[in-house]
Amino acid sequence: MPDRGTTCQQCGQKLEGGAAFCDECGTKQPQYMYCEKCGEKLEGGSVFCDACGTATSNYKPVRKKPRKPGSLGLLDELLADLD
Ligand SMILES: [Zn+2]
Ligand SMILES: [Zn+2]
Repeated sequence: MPDRGTTCQQCGQKLEGGAAFCDECGTKQPQYMYCEKCGEKLEGGSVFCDACGTATSNYKPVRKKPRKPGSLGLLDELLADLD
């Protein structure tokens, strides 16, 4: 297991991994996460692993509007744009 502890970049205080703010100076700490697949340390907001490209838990597939095959009439188009 990698060491998940972190150090405040502002004052050098040792902090628990995942600490959002420094206990000592209150500086907001960057959040890190680890790739589920290869264990690469990633920035907290990462959507894909830098090393292996695996999608992280931040990955939210874009929801496409369901489009029924064969119903591409003008009315359907208009209704689809209403939501
Ligand atoms: Zn600090
Ligand atoms: Zn990875």
